[in-house]
Amino acid sequence: MTRVAIVTGGTRGIGAATARLLKDSGYKVAATYAGNEAKAQAFREATGIAVYKSDVADFSACQVRTVPLRLQGSGWPRVLEVRGEVVIPLADFARLNAEQAKRGGRLFANPRNAAAGSLRQLDPRITAARPLAFFPWGLGETSASVAPSYSKIVERLRQWGFRVSTLFASVRGAAGCLAYFRRIGAQRDALPFEIDGVVYKVDALRDREALGFTARAPRWALAHKFAAREETTIVEDIVASVGRTGAITPVATLKPVVVGGVTVTHATLHNQDEVERKDVRIGDTVLVQRAGDVIPEVVAVVKEKRPRGARPWRMPARCPVCGAPVVREPGEAAHRCLRGLYCPAQLEGSLRHFASRSGMDIEGLGEHLVEQLVAKGKVKSVADLYRLREGDLTSLERTGERSARKLLERLERSKATTLPRLLNALGIPGVGEATAARLAEHFGSLPALLDADREELERVPDIGPATAAEIRDFFRDKRNRAVIEALLRAGVRAAAPPRPKATALSGKTFVLTGGLESMTREEAKRRLAASGARTSESVSRQTDYVVVGAAPGAKAARARALGVKTIDEKQFLKLIGA
Ligand SMILES: [Zn+2]
Repeated sequence: MTRVAIVTGGTRGIGAATARLLKDSGYKVAATYAGNEAKAQAFREATGIAVYKSDVADFSACQVRTVPLRLQGSGWPRVLEVRGEVVIPLADFARLNAEQAKRGGRLFANPRNAAAGSLRQLDPRITAARPLAFFPWGLGETSASVAPSYSKIVERLRQWGFRVSTLFASVRGAAGCLAYFRRIGAQRDALPFEIDGVVYKVDALRDREALGFTARAPRWALAHKFAAREETTIVEDIVASVGRTGAITPVATLKPVVVGGVTVTHATLHNQDEVERKDVRIGDTVLVQRAGDVIPEVVAVVKEKRPRGARPWRMPARCPVCGAPVVREPGEAAHRCLRGLYCPAQLEGSLRHFASRSGMDIEGLGEHLVEQLVAKGKVKSVADLYRLREGDLTSLERTGERSARKLLERLERSKATTLPRLLNALGIPGVGEATAARLAEHFGSLPALLDADREELERVPDIGPATAAEIRDFFRDKRNRAVIEALLRAGVRAAAPPRPKATALSGKTFVLTGGLESMTREEAKRRLAASGARTSESVSRQTDYVVVGAAPGAKAARARALGVKTIDEKQFLKLIGA
């Protein structure tokens, strides 16, 4: 039976090294050591891509207290990269928000956002003052193998001075996993972090290698989620809410209820079909669930408690905000208002998204201000924000000269941004933070992306045909192009992600088959990526090199049949300069 090591998977907790959570984005960080000295704490975006220099004024000065500056003990490899997650414990999070409130600052929605916001601070002293804790969950690049198994790696990290989760355990087989799941489940409410499940990982690195990856996730790790938290309450009303894409979502207004420590007042009903399927009526008693940071939702109606005269809900025929007819396109679940940015609700939503922390990060552009700017016609697209003058702002309610000047300064400062942020801020359908980062990495500049065709877009990892089509349509739209041009004219500059240095291997395609002695296959792939080369799973005429290790598979034979160059491990190491 396979030996299994376990790390707890926090929602934003300790071992985000799960298939699901990797995608879902904890705030990941890597600390790099040369000898035993901390070389850099490279702060990484949720997507695993380093925050660019413009985001962090001084890397080395940014301190997360539980990242050791000097490794203790002995036996560290010459180069060591430790990956993990930065979190803020729940109690510290509550204190931090209380302080923010006292100073009149923006409140953080959840601990993960607070951790991310703290790492993005321009002033490293603010970062250092925040209650951030770093929990390692694995290794990045190392100059030598650290240990043959995950549990031994964790043990070494502990000896070297890292704070390792005390919930980590090593168990055997399915029965051991389930016992662990129950044990952690029983402790769930008492833990200092909010967690939504556990993660099982195969312990032996050799076995992991044999198991490999699917297109999206490792086959050697598995997330096991706890049941979502549920409570019952009463639906006081159902309102049609218009989002920034025009989708109209029925939202239940609830009698406030505490679900897993959080007061819930609204829950989504997703769309008309969902309301009908669940038969939710105004006045009903319903079961509400909340999972992690996700918006609470109505699970089911308690039919026995339905009062007489409970009113069914209908999708309005006209947009409740602008009055345009509500349309449901064939094959779509959502009803929509199609007036785009001429609909104040959609314009407001776009502006708020544009200014959000993961977008252009314009602090001070709050909901009330956005509402007024739209209502008074001062802003008709996101680009108009950069044309605002002091007089435009002071003519609004509750905005004095001082706060107007401050907002203008922040708008000015937001112009120097990064490409992933700008792409996220634009609100392209189907493009969130993670996809924006991938697009930026693949295309490297805005002009290259603007004219990309579908085929090129589909070459970006995790972008399927549907998203590729939406991205292309977005950039072909004349109005969107005009907004982008106006942003650039206003002085918005998006720094491109650092590109891998051009080497002799840039653009070459490699296929790996059989085992390598000096490094794992993942390590080999990383080294190739760092030299600008691609790796592929199958051999074709487009393949430049097939690296043949010990006990190679059919790929080696196929390479020879196609006349593709095969090389052994020694030649491979020479090529990558190892
Ligand atoms: Zn509308």
